[in-house]
Amino acid sequence: MRLRSFLPILGLLITCSFSSCYKTIPKSKDVELGALTSNQIHSNPKQYPLLSKKDHPIAYAQLQRVVNNILESPDIKEKGTFAYDSITIVHDDEIINAFCTPGGYIFVYTGLIKMAKNEDQLAAVIGHEIAHAELRHSVKKLTRGVGRQAIIIAGAAAAGASFGVFIAVEVGNKILGLGMGRDQESHADKKSVIYMGTGNYYSSLALADFFEELAKSGKDIRIPPIISTHPDTENRIYRIRKWAKKFGYRTEYGENPEFTVLQNSIP
Ligand SMILES: [Zn+2]
Repeated sequence: MRLRSFLPILGLLITCSFSSCYKTIPKSKDVELGALTSNQIHSNPKQYPLLSKKDHPIAYAQLQRVVNNILESPDIKEKGTFAYDSITIVHDDEIINAFCTPGGYIFVYTGLIKMAKNEDQLAAVIGHEIAHAELRHSVKKLTRGVGRQAIIIAGAAAAGASFGVFIAVEVGNKILGLGMGRDQESHADKKSVIYMGTGNYYSSLALADFFEELAKSGKDIRIPPIISTHPDTENRIYRIRKWAKKFGYRTEYGENPEFTVLQNSIP
């Protein structure tokens, strides 16, 4: 039986039909799945041309600084569990995006670093991606898609087990291809506002301002996951501003003079 046809059948057999089923999967599996996905990205330089950490230490140190600032929010719960210290820069100026795998492996495109008007906007987008990991959105979707057992097996393979490697590859590919639903995006937007608002570094309006600038620039077609799945960008902007106001978070922008160092360190 070909692998491609095998996995859906496996999924059918053991897919958990309850939407809360993902909660029975330990969070350590998220990290294993993230490692698996991260490895797949690192071994696919054609699709993901990565900026070398060795050759660009300043860029990486600066980005880690931004992520550390975000992580100071008490609302990010998986700091000790998830791999938020694993950051990779994808060298592609055409893609204005970032993403975070299950378990917290963070990927940021050079296009986003260059396009962001200030550090607050960059942080807000990364915060949105961290929220997807915290809320376990991919794992939730996967549980319904390929089944709980496939996730466990893939995680085990990622952690070094010799069995289940083919399932791991399929699951990794699935993770990379997962799109988020409107509700999940909205939830991640809200969490990003909360992370910015409770973290004391960044403006809680930065995400809305970033979306607005993107929409104005007409570049939104090129950023699939963040905007193109959402014809309702205006609605998102409206809601982000509403949350920021409702929660009483700071709306002014920080100084962050080091942001120029980060931008200048990107080739
Ligand atoms: Zn998202």
